[in-house]
Amino acid sequence: MRLTDVRHQDRAISILRRALRSGRTHHAYLFDGPEGVGKELTARGLAARLLCGDESLEPDADACGRCPSCKLLATGNHLDFHLIHRGLHKFHPDSTIRSSKGLFLSVNLIRHFLIEPAGMKPTQGPRRVFLIRDAERMNEEAQNALLKTLEEPPGSACLILVTASASRLLPTIRSRCQRVPFGLLPPDFVAGELEARLGLSAANARALASLAGGRLGVALLWHRIGLLDALDAVGGCVDRLPAGDPEAFGKTLVELATELALRTRQQADEEAPAEAEEGTTKSAGKIVSTDELRTALKLVMLLVASLYREALVVKSGAAALCSLAGQQPRVEQLAAGTTLDRLDECIRGVNEAERTLDRNVMPQLVCERLAVALLGELPVSG
Ligand SMILES: [Zn+2]
Repeated sequence: MRLTDVRHQDRAISILRRALRSGRTHHAYLFDGPEGVGKELTARGLAARLLCGDESLEPDADACGRCPSCKLLATGNHLDFHLIHRGLHKFHPDSTIRSSKGLFLSVNLIRHFLIEPAGMKPTQGPRRVFLIRDAERMNEEAQNALLKTLEEPPGSACLILVTASASRLLPTIRSRCQRVPFGLLPPDFVAGELEARLGLSAANARALASLAGGRLGVALLWHRIGLLDALDAVGGCVDRLPAGDPEAFGKTLVELATELALRTRQQADEEAPAEAEEGTTKSAGKIVSTDELRTALKLVMLLVASLYREALVVKSGAAALCSLAGQQPRVEQLAAGTTLDRLDECIRGVNEAERTLDRNVMPQLVCERLAVALLGELPVSG
């Protein structure tokens, strides 16, 4: 857990190193930027440095990695490092809260796992560090309850709020934190990491990196849920479209999205091993919530759009810029059978379908309408 391991986030890292150098680290940070670009890795690097027990280090050096504090942190057993996340509700002393769904960071959770321990003396080192994952999941009550702790953290506690949606935090929360901005990663770097870490072929790594658009963490998750296979399945649906069965198209898309939603949930469960302890339940069953389905359908829409976008690139004579190598024959066929304007209309049709999903229209219906729009039987926009 070293700040040095964070790549391509020079601005964020330099803000933090400067603070460490001056000996004036802020008591509350807001790590703000897209999902999957290294915010939590950075937060852990900062936490490690703040908790490290090696006093001979330069102030802005990385944590030593060898002292008892660093070792405890690496094994996830440091009593002064607190990871605040939604799954914690399963460990709350109140059984009503334990049996809740844990959809957000509630005020009860924030009080018990953050505000109260922040008021206690650190057990092992000079301070306590709290990392709040998906901080925007705090509801308004929880955010309001946190204000005082943010204003005057007891002792030398450090709070690191990590979020990809800072706009969902109250302005009063944002203004009390030092903002540390994170940006997208270079696509070539993401593709290189996917090749090295997962052993993907260069073509598949490039495809996944391009779909995830500079978000390595997102690309890694998408690999685990089998997104490139889903892309192929979506391609099959697009192939069958000219036969003109919007209902079948809609049904397959919804099925695909359901499958992706289930696999995403499974991944989330696997990433939170602590939650598998005795007396707790994993998110059970094969039923996906409306929210999960909507999120997964947006992902499916992104796949549909990516095929039409790629066809547009081919049609514009820039085939060398294509990134979905595995879809090449399909994309070329798509491009050959139509015009640039029509492809552009199709992409707008997908965007429109995505917006309709947010208006609570039935997913199956949204997908059927999309099929009709892609077939070109109806004007896509008014
Ligand atoms: Zn250390």
